[in-house]
Amino acid sequence: MNKNKVGNMKIVILGAPGAGKGTQAELIAKKYDIAHLSTGEILRKNIITRTKLGKKAQTYVNKGKLVPDDIIINLMKEKMRSKECKKAFILDGFPRTIAQATVLNEIADIDIVLNIDVNPSILIKRLSGRRSCANCGAIYHLLSNPPKKQGICDKCKGKLYQRDDDKIETVKERLITYNEQTKPLIDFYSSKKKLITINGNRAIEANFKEIVEKIDSHIKSQ
Ligand code: AMP
Repeated sequence: MNKNKVGNMKIVILGAPGAGKGTQAELIAKKYDIAHLSTGEILRKNIITRTKLGKKAQTYVNKGKLVPDDIIINLMKEKMRSKECKKAFILDGFPRTIAQATVLNEIADIDIVLNIDVNPSILIKRLSGRRSCANCGAIYHLLSNPPKKQGICDKCKGKLYQRDDDKIETVKERLITYNEQTKPLIDFYSSKKKLITINGNRAIEANFKEIVEKIDSHIKSQ
């Protein structure tokens, strides 16, 4: 494989809430040794530590709404100037609107956009069983990917919790928000010939295998 190409790879991962963006982005970042930027994770950390950004974002996140574009765009412009993002990265949870994608287009040359396609009936089941580590953000599922010790993160021994926005009322709102504001990005990136669709209905490992095959074949074709 062409190491140079991997070292410069700029990836976006798209998918409805519960599609497995965070889990797959973490695996991709580890395998290809690239930076992983999750806007949801950045916002949650800011909410927990009660920063100015966290206070502004909290009401939107807890209601399953999108944080306003100007806040997210400023945040991501700053993050993407960092040294770790100079070369290669995967963006997880950004962009989520056409306005965000338009700005991203101006500040970075994205190579591929992975769209994890999941049947809506599976999404709700996945979100209701999801547990996240309060310390490192690692993601588990009570049935399909449980931690070794109940309630404790395998990686850092942090405490696992259910995100407020993974509770059923907010999940429904997040799916509506996704359909209205984020789904149009599929056509946006498809028309730019950047879109690679992945069947996300299977287990984590099977979905990841397809992702790796498609990334590697993209790299070879360059
Ligand atoms: P996630 O962890 O990606 O599911 O994001 C959790 C929540 O953070 C979302 O439901 C939104 O409220 C907020 N959020 C994350 N990324 C963005 C974004 N790019 N634009 C607006 N809001 C966002």
